Amino acid sequence: MPYEIGAYRTEWERYPVLVRQYHPDLNRNITLTQIPPAAEVYLTWQCDAGHVFVATPDEQRHRPGGVRRRSSWCPECLALAAPKRIVNRHLPPDQQAVPDARRAVSRPAVVASAPRTTLAKCAAGEAFHSGRAPRPASAAEGDLRSRLAERLDIDLRAANAVEVRRPFFAHREVWPDIVLAELKVAIEYDTIGKFGLEHVGTREATDRRKDRLLREAGWEVIRVRCGRLQPLGGFDLVAGGVTASLIERILERLREIRGDLIVNAYLR
Ligand SMILES: [Zn+2]
Repeated sequence: MPYEIGAYRTEWERYPVLVRQYHPDLNRNITLTQIPPAAEVYLTWQCDAGHVFVATPDEQRHRPGGVRRRSSWCPECLALAAPKRIVNRHLPPDQQAVPDARRAVSRPAVVASAPRTTLAKCAAGEAFHSGRAPRPASAAEGDLRSRLAERLDIDLRAANAVEVRRPFFAHREVWPDIVLAELKVAIEYDTIGKFGLEHVGTREATDRRKDRLLREAGWEVIRVRCGRLQPLGGFDLVAGGVTASLIERILERLREIRGDLIVNAYLR
C-alpha cells in the first residue's frame, strides 16, 4: 500500500534524475513521494529520450554513475552508448545478447524529445513542434526564454505547440509563447503591443479560451502580464518586464503548480 503523499519527499530529493524518470501515470497514479526509496516494488520509469523500463527504487538508486549525465540511468540509452557487444554466433540473432535494449518498450514520450510534424497524430496534451506556429514575436519573449533555459534543464525550443481536444480557430493545437513540455506548463508573455491593442477587448476572450483548452488537456498556464494588463488566471504574474526577479517568481509558480520535488529536479 502506498504511503501518504509527501511521506518520502525528503528522501527522494537526493535523486533528481529518478524524480524526472518517474511518472505517476505509468504507476497507477501513485506519486514517488508515497514510495519508500528502499521498497521492494517494481516501478515503471521513463528516461528523457522516451525509453520505458521496469526497476525497483533500490536498483535505480544504486545504478552506477548516479551523478553522470542522465542518459546513463536508462538501460536502453546505456546499451546504445556502449561499445559493440560480443555476439554469440551459436545463437539465432533474436536470442543474442541485447538484453536491456530489447526489453524496453517505447511509449509516446510526453516530452518533446523528438520534434514531430503537424501531420503526425498526437494525443491531447502532447507537446510537439508545429510548422504552423508563428515565430517568437518580441525580443522580450526571447529574453524570457533564454533566462528560463539558464535555470531549467528543459529544451525550450523542442516544442512550440500543444495538442488540445477541441479546435482553436481551425486546428486542434495551441501555440504558447514558451512550452515547458516536461512540466506541462505553458508560459505566455503578454503586452498590449505598440498600438495598445493586443490582449485587450475581444482578444482577451481568445486568451481565456486558449487557457481553458490547455487546462482541459492537463496543462497549466502562467501568463506574464505587462503594462496595464490584469491577471486572467490564478497563476498569472503582473510584471514590468523581464528581470531576474520575474524568473524567480515564475519558478515559484511552477513549484506551486507541479510541486517542489518535480520542479527542483529540473533546476540546473
Ligand atoms: Zn533511455
